[in-house]
This record gives sequence, structure tokens and C-alpha cells, in this order.
Amino acid sequence: MLHDFQNEKKYCPHCADYVCFLQSLNDSYCVECGSKVQLFSSDDKKAFLRAVRRDRDLSNKRTGIDRRNVS
Ligand SMILES: [Zn+2]
Repeated sequence: MLHDFQNEKKYCPHCADYVCFLQSLNDSYCVECGSKVQLFSSDDKKAFLRAVRRDRDLSNKRTGIDRRNVS
């Protein structure tokens, strides 16, 4: 089995799923359909940005070492 390929997936709008991708110079392409893939789906991207913003707000209020697992 390939190691940890779950983390190596990106979102393909055409397949509407997270897929394995081929990395080219600037972009990544779905191995299934050849469409350009994104790091997140637009919904996930919104949620991610919201979480980042919320994280920043929280760390502004208190400088505790909370979970900083978001890479
Ligand atoms: Zn695809």
C-alpha cells in the first residue's frame, strides 16, 4: 500500500471529490479526469478560512498553546 496518500489528495470540481493528482509546475491535475484540482472544495475553503480567522481571534484574546494542528 502507498503510504499516507490520504494527505496527498486535492479537490477536483469535476469529480466533486478529493482525488489523487499530478503536480505540474504551477497547477495540479486530477488523475481521473485531468481537470485542475484545488486544495479544498469551495465549501471546505470557506470553512477553513473561517476557522483560521476564528483561531486568530482566539489567539489574540489569550496566548495559550491551543491545538495548532492546521497545516
Ligand atoms: Zn477529476
